[in-house]
Amino acid sequence: MYKSFLIKYAEIAIKGKNRYLFEDALVSQINHALKKVDGSFHVRKEQGRIYVDTDGEYDYDETIEALKCVFGIVGICPVILVEDEGFDKLCEDVIAHIKQEYPDKHFTFKVDARRARKNYPLESMEINAKVGERILDAFPETRVDVHHPEVMIHIEIRSQINIYSRIIPGPGGMPVGTNGKAMLLLSGGIDSPVAGYMIAKRGVTIDATYFHAPPYTSERAKQKVVDLAKIVAKYAGPINLHVVNFTDIQLYIYEQCPHEELTIIMRRYMMKLAEHFAKENKCLGLITGESIGQVASQTMQSLAATNEVCTMPVYRPLIGFDKQEIVEVSEKIDAYETSILPYEDCCTIFVAKHPVTKPSLNVIHNDEKKLSEKIDALMQEAIDTVEVIHIEA
Ligand code: ATP
Ligand code: MG
Repeated sequence: MYKSFLIKYAEIAIKGKNRYLFEDALVSQINHALKKVDGSFHVRKEQGRIYVDTDGEYDYDETIEALKCVFGIVGICPVILVEDEGFDKLCEDVIAHIKQEYPDKHFTFKVDARRARKNYPLESMEINAKVGERILDAFPETRVDVHHPEVMIHIEIRSQINIYSRIIPGPGGMPVGTNGKAMLLLSGGIDSPVAGYMIAKRGVTIDATYFHAPPYTSERAKQKVVDLAKIVAKYAGPINLHVVNFTDIQLYIYEQCPHEELTIIMRRYMMKLAEHFAKENKCLGLITGESIGQVASQTMQSLAATNEVCTMPVYRPLIGFDKQEIVEVSEKIDAYETSILPYEDCCTIFVAKHPVTKPSLNVIHNDEKKLSEKIDALMQEAIDTVEVIHIEA
């Protein structure tokens, strides 16, 4: 059982003077992710490295699963940390590691030593050669392959010596909390949870808004969005989900405006309301799951029409993705099974048979005038009655 994990991070290492901010954010995200794991952990920064030390029993698989959700981590290395008690002892430790970790010794290997502490008596190349020999003596079934080894044995000589040979891939990206906050328009579909995941991966904290239209959309549809928010929160950290009661606005648009424009006008009001909550919560942008041409409301003209009502930047990370590519990410983050549950969201209930695909802004502006009598009051009502649900994974 490993007592420590060495955490590898790449992108954040190049941030110059800001580097410590990124490392601190990563440490805090790791701490947060490990809170729900069985065991007691201590996360520490040391000489451009982050270590997770364990104290006593812990659940290995749960620990790895939790770390795999922390943006900023490139690799998770279960590591053996030993004091420098001479070269013979180091070789014994390496051999003990191989013995335990690889029951079948028929593999090729290479030793990759790094001497970060320059007063160590052997140079890296000498360590590679000598440790390699000892391994071959101990396990004659193994072979050296310096070009494509199946097992790479890393030995890093630091204040303690680090021995590791497994690097479990992390999710990459940047630690959440390093790039401000944005408001995700989260529906019950496949796309928006993926969009939230992708922006969170760039270090952005996420809040979310869901437009609910009871009784046209069911409690189960709302629960599905809560469940999806939980899945996104596994990566993005806690999310404040704003559930907006959209029924009256939707019905009013339905009564007053041509039905083929319904979706566009409705989406314009969604953007306006989302932006209201975004500003209230110090968000710096909106996020949607839109992708060019996917449906009538996502043609370039339609996107221009929905975009027009926003003063904040709207981030659409899926804009150039095909559906299949979106589905792949959705499956990777375990959202797909939830997203395809049948409960409908409000977009699917009031759709026209032949929605406009090339809305003209003039026409939309004119038709929206038909809403002037009540729309402000209805918007205010929607704002006043919002339900905020704090979501944690
Ligand atoms: P998704 O799979 O994310 O629902 P979609 O392909 O169904 O997307 P639309 O229904 O046109 O596309 O919605 C486009 C985007 O608008 C969504 O990705 C989401 O960001 C936002 N959106 C749509 N409906 C809602 C809703 N009821 N609540 C919040 N946001 C919504
Ligand atoms: Mg949808």
